[in-house]
Amino acid sequence: MSQEQHIQSANRTAMIIGAGPAGLTAAYELLTRTSIRPIVLERSSYMGGISRTINYKGNRMDTAATASSPRATV
Ligand SMILES: Cc1cc2nc3c(=O)[nH]c(=O)nc-3n(C[C@H](O)[C@H](O)[C@H](O)COP(=O)(O)OP(=O)(O)OC[C@H]3O[C@@H](n4cnc5c(N)ncnc54)[C@H](O)[C@@H]3O)c2cc1C
Repeated sequence: MSQEQHIQSANRTAMIIGAGPAGLTAAYELLTRTSIRPIVLERSSYMGGISRTINYKGNRMDTAATASSPRATV
């Protein structure tokens, strides 16, 4: 990012709707690559969207993860 672009993005805010993988990734990228401040709005009481860890009868289970990511290592 050029200095001019950096100055232009300073003090700017991005509203992100949903704290699923897409929203959290967008917020992370904005935080690490720009000076734009992300604010994530999530309607539920949890983060992760349909791809998260739930607690069922004391057991932690991952939802919506039936296949490995291309980056996953065995
Ligand atoms: C059975 C199953 C298995 C899967 N397995 C894999 C896998 O192995 N590997 C893989 O990479 N992907 C997998 N996926 C896909 C992956 O889970 C999804 O692609 C991913 O969760 C999509 O993320 P998202 O952030 O776009 O949406 P979501 O996960 O749906 O998150 C959206 C979020 O936005 C919130 N939201 C919605 N509307 C509003 C609103 N108006 N205001 C505030 N918040 C709002 C929701 O509450 C939710 O938290 C699987 C999916 C399923 C169903």
